[in-house]
Amino acid sequence: MLQQVAILGSTGSIGTQALKIIQQFPDRFSVCALATGSNITLLEEQIRNFKPEIVSVFNEDQAVTLRRRVADLPVKVLTGAKGLVELSAWPGVDVVIVAVVGFSGVMPTLSAIRAGKKVALANKETLVVAGEIVMAEARRHNTVILPIDSEHSAIFQCFHAGGSGELKRVILTASGGPFLGKKREELAAVTPEQALRHPNWRMGPRISIDSATLMNKGFEVIEACRLFALETSQVQVVIHPESIVHSMVEFIDGSIVAQLGLPDMLLPIQYALSYPQRWPNPFPRFDWDRNHTLHFYPAAKGEYPCLDLAYQALQVGGTLPAVLNGADEIAVRSFLEGRITLMQIPALLAEVMSRHEVIQHPSLEDIVEADCWARKETERII
Ligand code: MG
Repeated sequence: MLQQVAILGSTGSIGTQALKIIQQFPDRFSVCALATGSNITLLEEQIRNFKPEIVSVFNEDQAVTLRRRVADLPVKVLTGAKGLVELSAWPGVDVVIVAVVGFSGVMPTLSAIRAGKKVALANKETLVVAGEIVMAEARRHNTVILPIDSEHSAIFQCFHAGGSGELKRVILTASGGPFLGKKREELAAVTPEQALRHPNWRMGPRISIDSATLMNKGFEVIEACRLFALETSQVQVVIHPESIVHSMVEFIDGSIVAQLGLPDMLLPIQYALSYPQRWPNPFPRFDWDRNHTLHFYPAAKGEYPCLDLAYQALQVGGTLPAVLNGADEIAVRSFLEGRITLMQIPALLAEVMSRHEVIQHPSLEDIVEADCWARKETERII
């Protein structure tokens, strides 16, 4: 049966790779809906290639321009935050790929869940800031959330080797980013250009900086706990510079199951779309005719302050993870603008967290408010 796909963030890194996969399987997928922030040049190209029924452009002026440019086609053009929410619940859509960046992923994900769509989730902020609400809604509506994040895709795949009561812990691998092994003095002078150069993965700017500070790994710890209903103590981070083992699951008998592959997002994106099946593809493979050495180092407590802050936010819970995420978004932007150093990021985040009055069992409104507060407070301190 032909599955109708919606891609939120179709012009970004994950979105364009998802379209590459869909092109490989024309008898399995058809593109029904596409959404972007403001890149209407690429979106127009995608509309002409994939013929979606409906698209959404966040920027209103750009939406007006696009409507004029595609007037020869039957496509409907929506706009704004409302457009994203409407598109995720669009009647013909079977699966929604959420690949927008930041807080803007939360409402469309909830909209897709409530409309009973299958959700392939690449936006980790959704689970970091509102994980408990999102997972409760998914259970209520009997919807599957399939992770696109490579570590969570790996864990999801490894889970199949044991029963739910047989899990001991999950081991999240972290590459360590471009500054692994560097001393604190060396890190003080790091430029945004250096921090954006990740050794194994090509990604957007925020996630590249978050990888350099290990904040990204911290968010992935929170994401794993929410997605798989784990205790904080059941998630351990291990430094693995080669990024070949994408994560592991340890069972109660001591057996450890790992998922390996090249550091390429095409595979986790495809698995989220093909699950519960696996399909052949022409993508590059791990080369077993060469020598390989894989390294693993403990992520020692105290050595990665951003990772420790994520564990703290997870332990306290409530609105604190949303505050950490909001503060980090501003901190990363300020570093990219040259207003603060990389080393100042964790101290800044810790300061904002300490000033926040945590609300336990927050509503969506509480979370939105905590996010706004954290952004303003971070700016004020800077
Ligand atoms: Mg990841």
